[in-house]
Amino acid sequence: MAKEIFAIFGNPVSHSKSPLMHNLAFAGLGYDACYTRHLLENGNALKETFFSLELKGINITVPHKEAAFNACDILDPFAKKIGVVNTIVARNGKLYGYNTDAPGFLKAISEFTEVKTVLFLGAGGTAQSTSSILRDEGYDVTLLNRSEGRLEKYKADGFETYTFENFQVKAYDLVINMTSAGLEDDSLPAPESILDSVIPQAKACVDVIYGKETPFLKLAKSYNKPTKDGSDMLLYQGIIAFEHFTNYAYTFDEIKPYMQRAFEL
Ligand code: NDP
Repeated sequence: MAKEIFAIFGNPVSHSKSPLMHNLAFAGLGYDACYTRHLLENGNALKETFFSLELKGINITVPHKEAAFNACDILDPFAKKIGVVNTIVARNGKLYGYNTDAPGFLKAISEFTEVKTVLFLGAGGTAQSTSSILRDEGYDVTLLNRSEGRLEKYKADGFETYTFENFQVKAYDLVINMTSAGLEDDSLPAPESILDSVIPQAKACVDVIYGKETPFLKLAKSYNKPTKDGSDMLLYQGIIAFEHFTNYAYTFDEIKPYMQRAFEL
């Protein structure tokens, strides 16, 4: 049996690429560990389940990232600030919590240089951590969401926010689909009239959905804009989690070629 066991907790969890990504990196780097998946139905049972399965670390996906935050004994400052944890490592019986989605996303969009203003389409859980890190890094983030309700906390945090009804068209350097529109249907994340006014002015368009070309990215390509899907975000959050899991024994660039193979299979 491997010396250390890791897992992803979520509901659903069967579709997750994380076991493949981490197992390829463990094998490639010769690190004695294995990574499995666990369907967790009740977020309140996260800590108890972690210890009963004798795990060294976990990733947490929908809908348990807030329960993961509550289960931790020690929080990394950024995870503490945003209240969302997607990576936990046990050290001396204590659970250490991190958020690697946001730094993964930041690294994924860093290839687009000379970007200052960013328009987020959507204001859900993924937008929460990524808007915070982008603002910390000096980007100017505006949120446009279908419904008003989710925008309240962003407004309270000082972000500029709009619904489809009151949106004011301006130039944004990057337009990012942070919604699930296009994931399992053919819908656009905002009315086409709005997209037709912001995409032509953008330097590039990004989608957090991965593994398919969404209607949003298709539209951006029709305007000859550089585009990027969510694969690098997924890969980079995994690499950063792996750095925590292995106590920083490997650098980002050492881990990357092994984990990247999960996207080539
Ligand atoms: P949430 O459920 O927290 O939020 C969903 C958001 O999408 C809300 O703002 C919602 O608006 C909006 N939305 C949903 N459907 C539509 C639609 N048809 N038209 C317009 N707006 C819509 O989701 P998450 O933040 O957890 O996930 C968002 C996306 O990010 C998903 O597609 C997920 O797959 C992807 N993701 C990618 C990752 C990666 O590594 N690449 C990591 C994590 C997530 P409203 O408030 O009006 O309901």
